[in-house]
Amino acid sequence: FLLRNTYKATFRYTCRSGFAKMMQAVCVDVPGGPENLLLRSVPRPQPKDGHVLIKVHAAALNRADLLQRRGLYPPPPGESDIMGLEVAGTVDTLGPALRRPWKPDDRVMALLSGGGYAEYVSVPEELLMAVPSDLTFSQAAAIPEAWLTAFQLLHFIAQVKEGEVVLVHAAASGVGTAAVQLVRLLGAVPVVTAGSREKLRVAEKLGAAAGFNYKEENFVQGVHDFTGGRGADVILDCIGGCNWEKNVGSLAVDGRWVLYGTMGGRSVEGDLLGRLLSKRGHLLSSLLRSRSRQYKADLVKAFSHRVLPHFSGQPASLRPVIDSTYRLEDIAEAHRHMEANRNTGKIVINVLPQ
Ligand code: NAP
Repeated sequence: FLLRNTYKATFRYTCRSGFAKMMQAVCVDVPGGPENLLLRSVPRPQPKDGHVLIKVHAAALNRADLLQRRGLYPPPPGESDIMGLEVAGTVDTLGPALRRPWKPDDRVMALLSGGGYAEYVSVPEELLMAVPSDLTFSQAAAIPEAWLTAFQLLHFIAQVKEGEVVLVHAAASGVGTAAVQLVRLLGAVPVVTAGSREKLRVAEKLGAAAGFNYKEENFVQGVHDFTGGRGADVILDCIGGCNWEKNVGSLAVDGRWVLYGTMGGRSVEGDLLGRLLSKRGHLLSSLLRSRSRQYKADLVKAFSHRVLPHFSGQPASLRPVIDSTYRLEDIAEAHRHMEANRNTGKIVINVLPQ
């Protein structure tokens, strides 16, 4: 199906322009394992009104890519079916009707709804951010999806306030490593869970005040000890099902429990509602990819204003955490690495040599 559409698109493009400009991209013809990721030549996108074509230097992996590869998380209607939710690179071609003075070769990074595992991607200009001057393209590619997600959850959804205790699960994940640093930046106190001592040590270096290995200890007790029995004001939860009871147990009265992933299952059995009600708990949830272009534009604007400056300076107070880098042709290996939960921080794909 994808192949047929690719040929159709190539044919249309060829007819319009006389010849099709092509690029390398990762495609999935049949949903399945990492071996189904195929690098091949496809037509290069053309920037439409209000879009900028980026020459991609680096892209980064996200957990959602694993689901999309398996056919369980299709792109929103009208978006590229090439995977990849974040890139950094240079401005290649300006589309019509742009409002901001972008120039060819500007260093940019972008939040995408898809299309990042490729040499070029077309992006609405309001989803572009300038790369902070101290960062490489590999570091910049690790920012948009993970950091905008963490910022959105903490700032827009949970509205975290100074001094509050925030429990961050999967603290060594891409989103987790961003969330721990952002909680500190907001003047709140991160406490975390992760599945190994090494991952907890990284989270503590990033600012976690306490950490619990969920495979070896009961984090409910840990959170209660840390907060003098009060519980966490906010929980950033990407685990879901298997943790529900421990999450309600860790939540402070009137606390906000923000669900944004279900790596630990989607089903819940037991007295969730009764337990939540007895704490007057707020259960909130959010997805970024399906949000409107305007919502994402507002998020990018707020993040650029409040957070981006903190990636500069000596020493910078924020840093993207890079676990490993791969070449585009080694994308299957990169997916296997993430699927095995081996990464601490982001897995980056260097599309061009850095
Ligand atoms: P990542 O870097 O791949 O890290 C995921 C980590 O989660 C794993 O390394 C593993 O670390 C831990 N984990 C996996 N399964 C687990 C389980 N059953 N119980 C406890 N821990 C588990 O992930 P990411 O790309 O940053 O994404 C993190 C989460 O955010 C995912 O659930 C993703 O879907 C979600 N997300 C949501 C949005 C949104 O808009 N809602 C946007 C972006 C990402 P340990 O070794 O510590 O177990």
